[in-house]
Amino acid sequence: MLVRSGVSWDKTSDVVIIGYGIGGAVSAITAAESGAEAIILEKQSPETKHNNTSMSGGIYITPPDVQSGLEYMTALCRVAGMPNMLWTDRAIIRAWAEYAATGRQWVEERGGSIFPNPGVGEHPQLPGGAMLSKHRFRGMGIGLARFLDDQVKAKKVSVLYETRAVRLLTNLRGRVVGVEAETTQNGQTRRLRIRASRAVVLAPGGFEYDEETKLNYLRVYPTYFTGSAALTGDGIRMALDVGAQLWHMNCVSARLVMKFPGIANAFTPDHLGKAALGKGPGKGDEAIPVTSGYIIVDGDGRRYTSENIAGHALYYELALFDTHRLVYPRVPSYIIFDRRRLENGPLPLVTSGPAGQTGIYRWSADNGKEVERGWIKTADTVRGLARKVGISAEALERTVKTFNRYCEKGKDPDFSRKTKELIPLESAPYCAVDLWPGGPNTQGGPRRNSRGQILNADGKPIPGLYGCGELGSVYGMLYPGGGGNITEGFAFGRIVGENAAREKGVS
Ligand SMILES: Cc1cc2nc3c(=O)[nH]c(=O)nc-3n(C[C@H](O)[C@H](O)[C@H](O)COP(=O)(O)OP(=O)(O)OC[C@H]3O[C@@H](n4cnc5c(N)ncnc54)[C@H](O)[C@@H]3O)c2cc1C
Repeated sequence: MLVRSGVSWDKTSDVVIIGYGIGGAVSAITAAESGAEAIILEKQSPETKHNNTSMSGGIYITPPDVQSGLEYMTALCRVAGMPNMLWTDRAIIRAWAEYAATGRQWVEERGGSIFPNPGVGEHPQLPGGAMLSKHRFRGMGIGLARFLDDQVKAKKVSVLYETRAVRLLTNLRGRVVGVEAETTQNGQTRRLRIRASRAVVLAPGGFEYDEETKLNYLRVYPTYFTGSAALTGDGIRMALDVGAQLWHMNCVSARLVMKFPGIANAFTPDHLGKAALGKGPGKGDEAIPVTSGYIIVDGDGRRYTSENIAGHALYYELALFDTHRLVYPRVPSYIIFDRRRLENGPLPLVTSGPAGQTGIYRWSADNGKEVERGWIKTADTVRGLARKVGISAEALERTVKTFNRYCEKGKDPDFSRKTKELIPLESAPYCAVDLWPGGPNTQGGPRRNSRGQILNADGKPIPGLYGCGELGSVYGMLYPGGGGNITEGFAFGRIVGENAAREKGVS
């Protein structure tokens, strides 16, 4: 929105940052370290603030050097089968690789408490993919948020809580010169105009809880997310209002999630059960003992993919549409398991998301409360379970019998399931939960360049406007693997903080 000269401002700072997740925090810390005054606007209150950063697993990735980072990211961004068509510009890929390769050093120099996390890139078959290493914050997402808080305080960045940015303010030349926000104190809402003498940074997260935007841009509907319900696409609207170009709007890091009435957030299933909690320093996936089985079936009661899913890309398989029946046969899908998994710890992941440390929902240790609520359906026979779920009893029984036969033989000729996961479903009660397309986060938003400047429809930077975090992420369809968004939050937070602080700005 245009502001005329002579307008009165309630506050002024060199750099005004919207959103206090990893993108906002790292850009503020870096701007302050580069000599600029920075202020963060955060719409939640300090007591109730849960964002994707604090709800995350706190994992991030480090390529061993710039060259391997460059190779992996270029391969990920290559649109299937088209060597020269990339989801993301080469200059951005290089900036990502340069900053990702030094991300761990940046954290350690500032006293971040991290430890090695097993695993490599999600697509190790791509060049550079098997060379990535991972680290995790002690205390996971909450530990990461605490580290950022300490740094923000140490750098004397002020945070205005309960202050929701509503629109970006521009001058006659189209430069972004400030932010209009709403703040609520003692039940009273008032408008604030905050002037940015150098730049505004847009880092309010994605559109996970904006149904209209999801319907119009994502590949399948509904899609549910496991992160903060405060991510309502505000950044998309603010960016469009000043003429920004959007990109990566149909890209998500997502898979299949559980969603129940009355709880805004979805839950990620912990397929393997409490054995997965044995994960820790030095323990890779292969070291995890598997003691209970499960399969995933579609609405026709059939398996359709390997359950050894690429954790952040399975989503794309769910968009299959049946043009005769006019349904998405994989929406919902169902996870089918038996007593052994029911007794093997909470059904959702408790290392992140709403059943994690944020305590949004306390899932019972034995899944009993959730069986009572009807979230987990149970029956004494597979046929009985199918009837409860509403899928063909014959089809589900056939699928389970076939899977059990594969378990006996130790080989899954249909989808090459890992041998150690071939554990038959044979002990009642048999259980099922609906699974929906969804996952941690959206990646779409305003397009940026390698300096983190937000671009207009002609591909030119909108003066005075930067972006970082998952809103308008640099990732296209494929995600590098668990740790990608935190890595990007550090990388582009630093890039944006450095460049925003260098802006000459306006008087
Ligand atoms: C359950 C879960 C687990 C994950 N695990 C990992 C992991 O281990 N590793 C990894 O790399 N990634 C992980 N991710 C993804 C990653 O956490 C996020 O993509 C990343 O933290 C996003 O950071 P952000 O700063 O862009 O957004 P956020 O951290 O969500 O912060 C955005 C902030 O902006 C505020 N805001 C929104 N609108 C406004 C407005 N109008 N005005 C003012 N403030 C506003 C919000 O309240 C919020 O505090 C996970 C995500 C989830 C949900």
